[in-house]
Amino acid sequence: MEFLRPATWAEALAAKAGTPDAVPIQGGTDVMVEINFDVRRPVALLDLNQVAELRGWEPLPDGRLRVGAGVPYARVIAELGEELPGLAQASRTVGSPQIRNRGSVGGNLGAASPAGDSHPPLLAGDAVIEVESAARGIRLIPATEFYLGVKRSALAPDELIRAFWMSPATGPQYFSKVGTRNAMVIAVCSFAIALHPGEHRVGTGIGSAAPTPRRAPAAEEWLAGELDWGGTAALAPALVKRFGELAAEAASPIDDVRGTAAYRRHAIAVMARRTLTWAWNDYRERVAPCA
Ligand SMILES: Cc1cc2nc3c(=O)[nH]c(=O)nc-3n(C[C@H](O)[C@H](O)[C@H](O)COP(=O)(O)OP(=O)(O)OC[C@H]3O[C@@H](n4cnc5c(N)ncnc54)[C@H](O)[C@@H]3O)c2cc1C
Repeated sequence: MEFLRPATWAEALAAKAGTPDAVPIQGGTDVMVEINFDVRRPVALLDLNQVAELRGWEPLPDGRLRVGAGVPYARVIAELGEELPGLAQASRTVGSPQIRNRGSVGGNLGAASPAGDSHPPLLAGDAVIEVESAARGIRLIPATEFYLGVKRSALAPDELIRAFWMSPATGPQYFSKVGTRNAMVIAVCSFAIALHPGEHRVGTGIGSAAPTPRRAPAAEEWLAGELDWGGTAALAPALVKRFGELAAEAASPIDDVRGTAAYRRHAIAVMARRTLTWAWNDYRERVAPCA
């Protein structure tokens, strides 16, 4: 097996162009497991750990954050918890401290598992994925268009993920995950919500309950129209229930070893109701009085 070790982003893109079959490795928390279990025998590994450009984050002129694909979960939690609370909350549920120190959002995107924990908050927060190839330059792919199938993404063989772009939260964001235990667990299913008060908009993300992570557009639109954005009243139980139903309708889960389709649908409804209630209670306390 060839081992490619670029020192810069330009070198990494050139290496990927030269050897499109090379498998990128960042934290290695997915790649090394697959190699160790003989699930995959790549002709070459493309080690991105020396590429400093992938390990930083910066604000863009339009206010969005550009977060390098190699920033590990531990740093998302420590450095971006205020700006990206939904993603930070999801990051806290990933694996163990060791996995959170090595594993990255870029790696989660690269793996494109429907169960990846970063995907629902990226969807709810309108993230855009920055990918690049030596031949065609940069492409900006909205998260909604990035996931194409089970472990399949819009990334071309000669492209690498450079970063994701996401606006700092302007309202409450929450993530919820059901697993067979509280830590070190792949999601049976998960749900994220983001309130965007400035635009009176709601974002959602569903994990592990369809071939790809996906939003629940009908639930988002319906809720955005129903919420009293200027008010401080508690949510009507019927509204919360309906949001849960619409979120569950957006899922198309399967039966597998981790759970049944019926359980997943039920759990999505429960998590949608819970995360909405948490988010709205925050909104009433923190955002509405200043609006
Ligand atoms: C014990 C354990 C527990 C785990 N728990 C969780 C969990 O709770 N939630 C969860 O979501 N995941 C979990 N995972 C899976 C894994 O940690 C995550 O998917 C993590 O985000 C992978 O990041 P990484 O940097 O280690 O990726 P890597 O393993 O380095 O790469 C993952 C994939 O992305 C590709 N890739 C990496 N960087 C790039 C790039 N810049 N451009 C293009 N492709 C790239 C690789 O080629 C590979 O296909 C767990 C794994 C282990 C071993």
